[in-house]
Amino acid sequence: MATICRSDIHTWQGHRPGPCPGLLGHEIIGDIVALGEGVTHDMRGDSLRIGDRITWSEYFIPGSNYHADVLDLPQKSRGVDKYGHMAASTAPHHHGGFGEFCYVVPRSWILRLPDVLTDAEATPLNCGVATMIAVTEAAGIRVGQTVVVQGLGLLGLYGAAIAKVRGARAVVGLDSDPARRERAYRFGVDRAFDPAMSKEDLQREVLSLCRPEGPDAAIEVCGVAQAVLQGIDLLRTGGTYVLAGVVNPQAMVTLDVNLILRKMLTVRGVHNYHPRNLIEALDVVVANRTRFPFHELVDGRYPLERVGDAMNDAAERRVLRAAILP
Ligand SMILES: [Zn+2]
Repeated sequence: MATICRSDIHTWQGHRPGPCPGLLGHEIIGDIVALGEGVTHDMRGDSLRIGDRITWSEYFIPGSNYHADVLDLPQKSRGVDKYGHMAASTAPHHHGGFGEFCYVVPRSWILRLPDVLTDAEATPLNCGVATMIAVTEAAGIRVGQTVVVQGLGLLGLYGAAIAKVRGARAVVGLDSDPARRERAYRFGVDRAFDPAMSKEDLQREVLSLCRPEGPDAAIEVCGVAQAVLQGIDLLRTGGTYVLAGVVNPQAMVTLDVNLILRKMLTVRGVHNYHPRNLIEALDVVVANRTRFPFHELVDGRYPLERVGDAMNDAAERRVLRAAILP
């Protein structure tokens, strides 16, 4: 199974550079049909056999390098490549999720999936869930803290749920879509508001849940540069702001940076994730699959021949996460 991530749609619509013809799809799981020489175990030591169902990191690195070895940011390695981002002409050709087979390239991180997880629960692990593990880690969410999540799409819902798993006492969600706000209550959001409401009303509502001064952390997963102003405004003194949704270049905004200084804020960006976050993603979903209805998030299923319909439905937001079933 492969699910359509928002970034697949951005590439397809031409908002993000991508080779053409290319092979899209990077949120993938699969059954092993053949094993390369020496591939015997996954990244945490579980044995791998033909027939095992696996997930794997959405990216692979060119080997030992400065970003991976020294900075511990393997996802930023020079020469990093990603599944579902490469030209069809690039060997080994089968490197995207929208296909019957995918070649898992050396220097990817593989994880065997436990039988308890359904395909729908497991497929978003290697992009959506692992990214939100990295985001909530960067936000430093600890027991008793309060968090604002800007954007209640798939990332926001996982973000809210993971914030609760990390011990947050209150999670406030912001989204202009009433149906999304309604759904968010089942994923750990305590109160959800329309970000377009008046600044005074929003501040009063958020403060009532995030006493005494405002949220400890705010997370941007709405992809709107302007939202940064609202998030930074809401944070308490010493709070942390994490950007994870504004993935397109030229996301310009005019910001009074004195606010960052005076409120002593920490501002962080998160792009993709560290391989350890993939393990944590799996464990969080396995341990909390009855607490939060993760299985509902994949709400559209399409055979490979209808990938165009799936992309259209996902782009028009008729489905939250469309799944391609080769
Ligand atoms: Zn993705």
